[in-house]
Amino acid sequence: MILSDTKSLEGAGPATKVVNAGRRKEWTGPVVNPPVWRASTHLYENTAALAEGPRHNEDGRFFYGRRGAPTQWALAEALTALEPGAAGTVLYPSGVAAIAGVMLTILKPGDVVLITDNAYDPSRAMGKGLLTDFGIEPRYFDPLDVAGYEALFCERTRAVLLEAPGSLSMEMCDLPLLAKIARDKGAISVLDNTWASSLGFPALERGIDITLMALTKHVGGHSDLMMGSASAGADLYAKLRARAQQLGNVVSPDDAALALRGLRTLDVRLRQETASALKIAEWLAQRPEVAQVLCPMLPGAPGHDVWKRDFIGGCGLFSFVFKGGTMADRNRFIDALGLFGIGYSWGGFESLAIPIDPAGYRSVMTWPPVDGSDLAEARHGVRLTIGLEDPADLIADIEQALTAWQQA
Ligand SMILES: *Cc1c(COP(=O)(O)O)cnc(C)c1O
Repeated sequence: MILSDTKSLEGAGPATKVVNAGRRKEWTGPVVNPPVWRASTHLYENTAALAEGPRHNEDGRFFYGRRGAPTQWALAEALTALEPGAAGTVLYPSGVAAIAGVMLTILKPGDVVLITDNAYDPSRAMGKGLLTDFGIEPRYFDPLDVAGYEALFCERTRAVLLEAPGSLSMEMCDLPLLAKIARDKGAISVLDNTWASSLGFPALERGIDITLMALTKHVGGHSDLMMGSASAGADLYAKLRARAQQLGNVVSPDDAALALRGLRTLDVRLRQETASALKIAEWLAQRPEVAQVLCPMLPGAPGHDVWKRDFIGGCGLFSFVFKGGTMADRNRFIDALGLFGIGYSWGGFESLAIPIDPAGYRSVMTWPPVDGSDLAEARHGVRLTIGLEDPADLIADIEQALTAWQQA
């Protein structure tokens, strides 16, 4: 029985797809995973076949290394199977390369792109750097201010870049509504769906036009590779694929094999990390040192109702802010953690912590929010990535580090 046939997976649950998608017999041979096909040159039978090669620019056709080989095709096909509504998936050498690849596909000089103000900072920087240099105007918007967002559209608005929850500050916006407004205005909606992945938020089904992920995070899952992806319906997928070929975007078969290995456990890792993160977020919310936990999965936290309405799942990434205290107190807390690594990125099997000060990464949103809530007094935040350790051990570690925070 060949479970890997994408058709036979239609109607299967996401966990079944995660395990089986992309495992075509013609790619795997007699083993479970597709081998690592290291190849630039693809060899032809004769000159007639050589001349045919470039003509068929289709997925799954051998031609030359830049169009990939079975290891990369298997990964792209698996990601497509996990994204309801997707016709295909383009792989990029990093998450940032995916964002740039998408922007350079759908925008041209003179266009305006609306970028959510709480986007991943390199996305914000891309607006002011790469896109501005190419004659494209970025405008930043507060995704919680729907009227303000709507008012920013003009004749030249060609695309919007969304992300939820927001980077660092974790605001949860109404993605289906913002995407619908973009569509009504004739603009393409792009979602950076790295946080939830297609398992937690089936973006195209919810009205998004192009969904992208930093595979570096959850799909890789082991903090040992960098990759990005973008998935879309037929028209936009064809455009993304053509532009990626023009830009020379390829991923190595070794990294594709690692990403496939990570993908097979994605569902169970996300479930476990979500459950642990919820326990830890709940515990933190009761602590006198904490002004607010910024975790949309937590009942009562900002954005929880929207998350519950629109999302199927979550992950281990959330933030919290201290009630008072100085930056030095906050940094002492992080330095005192024993089980949390200090480092960028997230989505691996291991827990991480970084200090956050989002004020420096916002153009139109305020930090802390000045709505009279507890947060108005809070300044210094921490972002936690909850990995696969025992949550009781992580809580004990946080508890002892809170003692260091108090020792001013
Ligand atoms: C990490 C990240 C990216 C970029 O991915 P890289 O592979 O590091 O380039 C993009 N978006 C979000 C939300 C991220 O967290």
